[in-house]
Amino acid sequence: MYKQFTTDLVHLPSFELGEIYKMNGVWEIQLIPRQQSFICPLCFRKSVNHARPKERVLKHLFIPTHGLIYVRVPVYRQRCDDCGISWSVEWPGIPQRGKVTNRFKEMVIQECKGNTFQSVSKKTGISPSTITHWFYQEAERLVAKPENHSSPTKVCIDEFSLKKGHKYSLAIQDAETGHIWQVSEGRSRAQIQEALKRYPFIAPVVAVTDLAPGMAKTIQEVWPHVDIVADKFHVIQLFTAALERARKLSSKYATKHLEIRYQRRLLMTDPKLLDPQEKDKLSKWLDEDTNLYQQYQALQAIRRVYQSHTYQEGEQSLQAWIDYYLWDGASATRRIAKTLLQWKTEILNYFKYRITNAKIEGTNNLIKTIKRRSFGCPNQEKFTLRIRLECQQP
Ligand SMILES: [Zn+2]
Repeated sequence: MYKQFTTDLVHLPSFELGEIYKMNGVWEIQLIPRQQSFICPLCFRKSVNHARPKERVLKHLFIPTHGLIYVRVPVYRQRCDDCGISWSVEWPGIPQRGKVTNRFKEMVIQECKGNTFQSVSKKTGISPSTITHWFYQEAERLVAKPENHSSPTKVCIDEFSLKKGHKYSLAIQDAETGHIWQVSEGRSRAQIQEALKRYPFIAPVVAVTDLAPGMAKTIQEVWPHVDIVADKFHVIQLFTAALERARKLSSKYATKHLEIRYQRRLLMTDPKLLDPQEKDKLSKWLDEDTNLYQQYQALQAIRRVYQSHTYQEGEQSLQAWIDYYLWDGASATRRIAKTLLQWKTEILNYFKYRITNAKIEGTNNLIKTIKRRSFGCPNQEKFTLRIRLECQQP
């Protein structure tokens, strides 16, 4: 058991390990400095140790199998008789004040990623307010600084809500590294443009956005040369959302035969991934409901558009899709066709750049979990810092 506490584990190379014992359920490790003589900082001659032996006990590690591990560190008071000065020796990794080592502090901060401050507090015996303070102090230091990075050429711009239904924020994320460089409040035209003006880099070559009305124009008024890509995921979502509404209206037939979760699977899954039995069930269902059938076909057709290999092929197949569905098919699809017509350039840009904001979707989940952990996120600035620290680093 004792041998587990190797110098590697303890990670304080300037000390040898002395006695190791367990007292009142916690482990304590005596540290013996490897260096025993110290020169005077003024005259560089050997100084003398003049104080009575004194020790400090600091929290150093938390190991799930062992719990808290303390270190017992001697305090050396040195004196130079020639210069008439005295000082305390500074040990690497051991702060001059406080009750924890640098490593312990780092560990607590690491632990805050993915956990609430409250649960980390319970585990480590450090008060939540101290943990919060440490975390944000360290976050400031660790978070990526724009001046150390080159301008991203591809970005994702997306909205997310801080509280369900109100208070929207806008995130600007490097589409390649996944790092979120900026989070700002609001989603009005003015707020978005203000955010773009504050963006710490030069304008990107291309930006992926959702299909919010006027979004492309709002961005290009500030970044006139940027190409906008309408996010593929959001385009498909127009169809799946409409299909979901149609499914609810169609439930008369389906509820008799199919569970709701199963209904969704049949409708939303790429038909290539359904087994023959499922395909059979689906086709019987679609035979019963023309509206659902038409919308389902339109979704499969747009999926085929996205499978185009070249820009030209994409352009032809999208135009063919729009030409057909603007006049034919379900009324819900005709509405979508109008939207796609407005976003045609931006949808086709997908074939030029082949980027989606899939990364930001992952980030949305991260934001959701941070939100859950931080009890409604009181402070936008700290919340932003936390998001930026926990998302992919550049
Ligand atoms: Zn001296």
